[in-house]
Amino acid sequence: MEPKVYVDGELYPKSEAKISVFDHGLLYGDGIFEGIRVYSGRLFRFKEHIDRLYESARIIRLKMPLSREDMDCAVQDTVRANGMRDAYIRLVVTRGAGDLGIDPRKCKKSTLIIIVDKITVYGEELYEQGIPIITSSTRRIRPDMLDQRAKSLNYLNSIMAKIEANIAGAGEALMLDCNGNVAECSVDNFFIVKAGVLLTPGLEFPILAGITRAVVLEIADRLGIPCRECTLTLHDVYGADESFVTGTGAELMPVISVDSRTIGDGRPGPLTAKLLKEFRALHSAEGVDLFA
Ligand code: PMP
Repeated sequence: MEPKVYVDGELYPKSEAKISVFDHGLLYGDGIFEGIRVYSGRLFRFKEHIDRLYESARIIRLKMPLSREDMDCAVQDTVRANGMRDAYIRLVVTRGAGDLGIDPRKCKKSTLIIIVDKITVYGEELYEQGIPIITSSTRRIRPDMLDQRAKSLNYLNSIMAKIEANIAGAGEALMLDCNGNVAECSVDNFFIVKAGVLLTPGLEFPILAGITRAVVLEIADRLGIPCRECTLTLHDVYGADESFVTGTGAELMPVISVDSRTIGDGRPGPLTAKLLKEFRALHSAEGVDLFA
């Protein structure tokens, strides 16, 4: 059966779901989005994702088409209509259809799209093997130019980095900020482990406040694993004992080399494996079953 896609209050079969070619989300990347997972019929960290969506809207001065309550219902009803107990939700809100100028005042009504589908970012075997990554020459945009903490439809910066990773045969691209410090990956946050301490760039850097990142820090805290949010350089990364990336799509993916420097012994480290196991245990137990 074809997935059903929500567009502005109606459900359409995937092949018939359409928006205007004058939509400023398409013409100018003028819009915001979220990626949310459904595990065992439960929405994972739903409130956090919807909070971030509404915060992104406030930052780009986008009028949301629905109240928080109606948004919650629209997402949950679309998941139920698709009958998928394990899925990825892509929630997109664009400025809406306007004319060919960038002026958002010409867009009378924002467009809301809710897609519920399957996602496989990495094959299951890679969670046991880990992935090589590279540092891209494309750096993160300076936050005083465009703050990456708003999850906007402007992803070319990440896409350029991802293309570099693809060419190098790497699974992800590590991106530096304008000072040459580690920021995050193209669509994931970044962690290392050194001498038993979990280290990740802090949110004062131009990075997305990843929800998976926060969950990992929360698990580490519960397990009594020491954590620090701090400045990291490539020197710290190359000398790390373990490394992994986190994201809604990737979950927690071990990294086994960075720019051809082997991390640890070239296999996912013990702390990484433990955090991945705990993460998976958490997401299949948390939240309300939408189908119960
Ligand atoms: N950084 C960027 C640039 C991203 O696009 C994402 C995923 N959307 C992340 C980090 C990870 O965030 P989350 O854990 O909330 O999916």
